[in-house]
Amino acid sequence: MWDAIANHIEDATGEPFEIRLKQPVGGGCINDAYRVDSRDRVLFVKLNQAAGLDMFEAETDGLQELAATQSIRVPSPICCGTAGGQAYLVMEFINLGDGGSQVQLGKRLAKLHAVAQPTFGWHRDNTIGATHQPNPISDDWVDFLREHRLGFQFRLANQNGMAFNGSDELLRQLDAFFDGYQPSPSLLQGDLWSGNVAFDENGDPVIYDPATYRGDREAEFGLTEMFGGFGTDFWAGYESVLPLEDGYGTRKLLYRLYHTLNHFNLFGSGYAGSAQSLVDQLLRLA
Ligand code: ADP
Repeated sequence: MWDAIANHIEDATGEPFEIRLKQPVGGGCINDAYRVDSRDRVLFVKLNQAAGLDMFEAETDGLQELAATQSIRVPSPICCGTAGGQAYLVMEFINLGDGGSQVQLGKRLAKLHAVAQPTFGWHRDNTIGATHQPNPISDDWVDFLREHRLGFQFRLANQNGMAFNGSDELLRQLDAFFDGYQPSPSLLQGDLWSGNVAFDENGDPVIYDPATYRGDREAEFGLTEMFGGFGTDFWAGYESVLPLEDGYGTRKLLYRLYHTLNHFNLFGSGYAGSAQSLVDQLLRLA
């Protein structure tokens, strides 16, 4: 398998790549990851079962599209494919650390979100964690959120044996949360939490492992809000470029609910109570 990966790297880059050293990299949730050194290059390789190729292709597209906005650093993808029954994704290796400015991170993410995008959705579906994430093109964010984000996760929860009280009512009432706020489509990292954000050797922010799509920029923070959110420095940076709009404090609960439901669907009943509390809270606020 590693010979096939090295050959693919040579084809993709037009330069020789003989693997001298392979070191496992920890910290991922889904895939096995390696730092792979040749004589003069260092690359990052993720491995999964062969069926994971589609996920790696979506990640490649996401990294390329995020890079094209020239707003925040992402690793450059090099190639992906299957070999020896495994799927692989090869990308630039970045020396990641946590030494960097949260203000800069906020500014860069706001710059990403400020790049005008044509529609909601994306050109392909992808995954959020290991869960399918549908991204049909849509002009109506509230319909998209109702059908392809919250509705999709509620239906999955049903298949997993859980009916959340008030879920249908909440979906019916979604428009109420968008009174006076009309989201524009922004390109999103889509799976933004502290584990998918770091700083490079120059202290510049880097995002990776995306679940990219075009959505309301507020949806970017659903997962971070679930884990306690960003700090004041981050928000000072973000809002210096792109201020938040009235009602974010309530809508962020909708976006947190999406990721909480996904955690329920991925990891089970430990997340049922917090998902139900969010539904109850949102119905009181609607
Ligand atoms: P997974 O898809 O399994 O969640 P990640 O993409 O999050 O894996 O990568 C796992 C870890 O590897 C990350 O937490 C990060 O520390 C590191 N990492 C990710 N991308 C790179 C990269 N391009 N260069 C160097 N290290 C990386």
